[in-house]
Amino acid sequence: MGDHQEHIVMVPFLALGHMIPFLALAKRIQERTSYKITIVSTPFNVKYLSSTIAKDSTKQVVQSPKNISLVSLPYNSCEHGLPPNTENTEALPLKDMVTIFNSTLSLKDPLTKLVLEITDKDGKPPLCIVSDTFMGFASEVAKTCGTFNVSFTTAGAYGTAAYVSVWLNLPHLLASDGVFKMPGFDDSCCFFSVNQLHPFMKSADGNDPWSKVLKSLLSPSLDSLGFLCNSAEEIEPMGVKAIKNLTKLPVWCIGPLLPQCMLKKGEKDEIFEPRIGKDHGLSPEKCIEWLSKHSQSSVLYISFGSQNTISTSQMMALALGLEDSERPFIWVIRPPIGFDIKGEFRSEWLPKGFQERMETSNKGLIVKSWAPQLQILSHPSTGAFLTHCGWNSVLESLSQGVPIISWPLAAEQAFNSKMLMEEMGVCVELTKGYQSDIEKEHVKKVVDIVLGKSGKGKEMKEKANEIGLCIRAAVKEEGDFKGSSVKALDDFISTLLCRRNMSF
Ligand code: UDP
Repeated sequence: MGDHQEHIVMVPFLALGHMIPFLALAKRIQERTSYKITIVSTPFNVKYLSSTIAKDSTKQVVQSPKNISLVSLPYNSCEHGLPPNTENTEALPLKDMVTIFNSTLSLKDPLTKLVLEITDKDGKPPLCIVSDTFMGFASEVAKTCGTFNVSFTTAGAYGTAAYVSVWLNLPHLLASDGVFKMPGFDDSCCFFSVNQLHPFMKSADGNDPWSKVLKSLLSPSLDSLGFLCNSAEEIEPMGVKAIKNLTKLPVWCIGPLLPQCMLKKGEKDEIFEPRIGKDHGLSPEKCIEWLSKHSQSSVLYISFGSQNTISTSQMMALALGLEDSERPFIWVIRPPIGFDIKGEFRSEWLPKGFQERMETSNKGLIVKSWAPQLQILSHPSTGAFLTHCGWNSVLESLSQGVPIISWPLAAEQAFNSKMLMEEMGVCVELTKGYQSDIEKEHVKKVVDIVLGKSGKGKEMKEKANEIGLCIRAAVKEEGDFKGSSVKALDDFISTLLCRRNMSF
């Protein structure tokens, strides 16, 4: 091998919730090896990722990522029919998602050129490409360049298996009475409801634009050396088995790729690495101050992630239900469907005087647009999380033993919600989608159950605590002890080296 420095090229999908775990994976590999890691994306996303890294290092939270470089590939959103400077899914209406998926295919040739350039300089191709499961074209690039592709799913194993299976097999076309069997899943957990599919999935028949693009992006991912999954094997064994059945590939559960502060609960001097470098609608200190005025596990935290929102009528019903429940809450709020999600919030979207009433009585804190989610979830006063079930939010919540009220909106979120309810017992589903009606009475009922100190609420809290312990054990490394995710990462790295040695 001599002085040869191994190189890994990473290709995340164009969404913040994907880029952040990729960056976290790069840092974990960097901590264990001397490999060079190049993360590629479009110019805007590269600028954004660099600012996130810069923020980390000024806080001296992470080692300076000396072996991680960021490289821009040429990309012009207008050429693909997207609004100018739209380079990721943030604030992108759901209907335009199919366009951004299609646009990623334009990165294939520049990626090939980059990987060949790296090869030329080094004499050897990179050790592998780690590509997002949604960026399957990288598997073809890897073949062209004489290396391997490893597919990294930033979602959980269960959600990924169900999502990939739907797009590749269209099993809902065989549904009877609204129920169908999900290929890849064991008999004990293979029945899914058509209602668990979001509208684009429900109407997919193989010839619509969604089926076409997702099949072309997902199916080459199955032609990889293996799958990396941002999860711990112990917390979703059914899902891990389903991905293995579906892909016939090795699966390395190397997660959760959460900041250290979420994984070492109870330690002093916790430092919060910003996962996403954004300005908060309210400072972390103000949120903590507010939370500290409330009793243990009493506060409901509400957020729909980095790119989703709900409808005007749903917003109204949610507000009325919260007010009736009289439970304290922090609500990250942004303009409803049909309005500019990054625009100003108008008070008419909430019941008259709602914000003032909630704030003067200390019952509710409304945070515009973006909240310090990690600090909120790890505060002892937070008792439940009403979430869209994006996988990062799920992991952040469970790592802190916080049970979930789910309101899945898109992607694989409804599958995550099903697993949280049926396999883990840590969740109650409030509703799904941004088109369904919700009633304030139902909001109050669900919030009362989950925040309740006895019965189902107590049971869910205990289960969430158990899962939190499993998560922390999986990523623990102390003396001779290595948790399952640490072992999986080591096994992944040694498998790569072994395969490389077999090829040269
Ligand atoms: N997030 C945050 N503050 C907010 C909303 C979201 O810090 O107000 C972070 C959250 O902690 C998580 C990420 O944004 O790490 C959202 O990722 P997730 O997978 O849950 O959902 P997505 O945004 O991809 O739909």
